[in-house]
Amino acid sequence: MDAVVLAVPARPAARLLADVAPEAAKEIGGLDYASVALVTLALPAGVLPDLSGFLVPATEGLLVKAATFFTTKWGHLRRSDGLALVRASVGRYGDEEQLQRPDEDLAATVHREVSAVLGAPLPAPVAGHVQRWGGALPQYTPGHLDRVVAARSALRAAHPTLRLAGAGYDGVGIPVCVRSGETAAEGIITALEGSGR
Ligand SMILES: Cc1cc2nc3c(=O)[nH]c(=O)nc-3n(C[C@H](O)[C@H](O)[C@H](O)COP(=O)(O)OP(=O)(O)OC[C@H]3O[C@@H](n4cnc5c(N)ncnc54)[C@H](O)[C@@H]3O)c2cc1C
Repeated sequence: MDAVVLAVPARPAARLLADVAPEAAKEIGGLDYASVALVTLALPAGVLPDLSGFLVPATEGLLVKAATFFTTKWGHLRRSDGLALVRASVGRYGDEEQLQRPDEDLAATVHREVSAVLGAPLPAPVAGHVQRWGGALPQYTPGHLDRVVAARSALRAAHPTLRLAGAGYDGVGIPVCVRSGETAAEGIITALEGSGR
């Protein structure tokens, strides 16, 4: 194989690199990830305030980190039956145990906490949906950028056409991830041109 962009999260990347580039694997293998669940509730018409949603600081001690009132925020999602859709993001770094709770339990917690934040009990939801994203959000710690530079440098020295890309290294936003992949591909093209292939 001429070239590989390794665009998997940092831990599986470290496992895949353990034999071929142990120095790089060591630099990236310690990156930790947070898990998150998205809980969507359909509520009867007319019960939500005219807001697009809210964010909750960690100091509040709630499981809900943020709530988006879909049907208020995006007009095209407004429904003919008037149902209001609320999507809450739950679980902060270290909350993994809480996310093991059954769907109904998470949905009930979201319903209770959103009611509390809004200052009035919401009516029972008409429907609910829970989607879990385990180990989805990298948690960068001091020295992260230096470790990434060191990993890439070790990898380049050992295998010039094997590159790392993705949120584990360059940032979580999708535009940044796309750019990370493009940069990896450009680096490989340059290396291949340099080698005359
Ligand atoms: C709930 C949620 C909402 C988000 N909302 C937004 C948003 O609104 N805007 C925004 O910009 N960003 C958002 N993000 C962040 C963004 O989606 C991610 O940071 C980004 O998608 C990461 O891209 P990636 O290519 O690095 O990794 P991923 O998209 O996670 O891709 C990694 C791939 O590697 C695969 N993989 C894992 N292990 C292996 C293995 N051993 N072998 C082979 N393949 C493997 C996985 O299956 C996956 O396909 C959100 C993230 C989450 C979790």
